[in-house]
This record gives sequence, C-alpha cells and structure tokens, in this order.
Amino acid sequence: MRNKEFAVIGLGRFGGSICRALSEEGMEVMAMDLDEDKVNEFSTIASHAVVGDSTDESVLKSIGIRNFDLVIVAIGDNLKASILTTIILKELGVKQIWVKAQNDYHEKILSKIGADRIVHPERDMGRRIAHNIISNNVLDYLELSEEHSIMEIVAGTKIDGKSLIELDVRAKYGVNIVAMKRGKDIIVSPQATERILKGDILIVIGADTDISRFEKNLI
Ligand code: ADP
Repeated sequence: MRNKEFAVIGLGRFGGSICRALSEEGMEVMAMDLDEDKVNEFSTIASHAVVGDSTDESVLKSIGIRNFDLVIVAIGDNLKASILTTIILKELGVKQIWVKAQNDYHEKILSKIGADRIVHPERDMGRRIAHNIISNNVLDYLELSEEHSIMEIVAGTKIDGKSLIELDVRAKYGVNIVAMKRGKDIIVSPQATERILKGDILIVIGADTDISRFEKNLI
C-alpha cells in the first residue's frame, strides 16, 4: 500500500507546525505558501515546498492537488482566500479537505461549501486550558459533542483504594471509566473489581454535567 500524501496550504504557525509534525512522522507532505521566505524555511522540512497562490486554480492544478489524500488549508486571517481555496479544492475533487476556521461565520461558510473537517485551534486550545485552570485534576479532554466529552482525571484521596464496583460511578454519576493509567501501565476496560489508587489517571466518558459531578464529589 502506498503512503498517504498530504498538502498544507499556508505556512503560518498552525500550518507550519502541522507540516513539521507530519514530516517528523515520516509522511510525504507538500508545503505551499504565497510567501517565498516561508517556503524556503520549509524546503528542507517538507518533501516539496512551492511558492504559489492557492486561490489560483491553475496553480493548484499544475501541482496535481487532486492526487493528494488530504489537503489542509491553514490560511489565517484572509477569510476570502481561505474560502476561495476551499471552493476550488472541492471543485477539483480533492478527497479530504480540512480547513482552519477563524470564527463562527467562517466556519458556517466552510461547512456549507463542503469542507470535510473544520478546526479551531485557538478556540479549542483556549477551552482545554480553561478546563485545566478550573480543575487541576483534569489533565486533558476531548469534546465528543456540545454536551459530551472524554476526560483524563487524576484520582485523589477520596477514592484511593476503592474498587469500581464500590464506587458504582455508572449508576451514581452516569459516567463510564473506560481506562485507567497507572505509571506506564494502562488498564483498558477495567474490571468491576479493579481498585483505583491515588494518582491513577482515569479516562472517563459521559455528559459534561455528570463528569463534573463525579469530579466534584469523588476526586
Ligand atoms: P497562523 O495564525 O496559523 O500563524 P497566518 O495568518 O500567520 O496563520 O499564516 C497564514 C499563511 O498563509 C501565511 O504564511 C500566508 O502567506 C499564507 N497565505 C495567505 N494567503 C495565501 C494564498 N492565497 N495562497 C497560499 N498561501 C497563502
């Protein structure tokens, strides 16, 4: 099977770090930007780096953009360029188009024109950090919907030594502990008899309000 090929359009902080991370993972990645200096910076990082305006259909055609498995549009402030690029990529039949959105208005348009995934790096990171600030016990979280998440919570003294069956969190709080991390070990789908130790990292899934109740009362 051939390796997947990615293209990143816009080499600002966001696009640039995606490009670096993909390259570090050994992926084939084509980097494109209007700015020649940016492109030069990525010439040794990406598999190919090209200077070009992604709002120009002929430029995208000439680099064979259709052949990439996934194209990331990481154009920052220029909403017009980001939207136009997405429309052209869609028209050219690119299989997967992921776009960085600047605000809700931008997101609405992107979803209307058929972007496959819309990301809000600043907003999402802001929320993550807010969670960490509000609760020292929440290490990380993944939003599943507006009201549901998966969270990593550090077990405190209140539940030290208690088994899952004793705590009965599913019935009492409506949350599920899907895995536990203890040092380097990970216990996936822990048995009801498994005991939690202080410092374990619990990976819980549920409604945000239920997780929050669980955390306030038990952690
Ligand atoms: P970030 O907030 O992630 O740092 P920036 O707005 O700083 O994003 O960077 C966006 C990048 O996208 C810039 O390097 C800019 O030159 C590039 N860019 C903007 N418009 C186009 C375009 N039409 N084609 C290609 N690259 C573009």
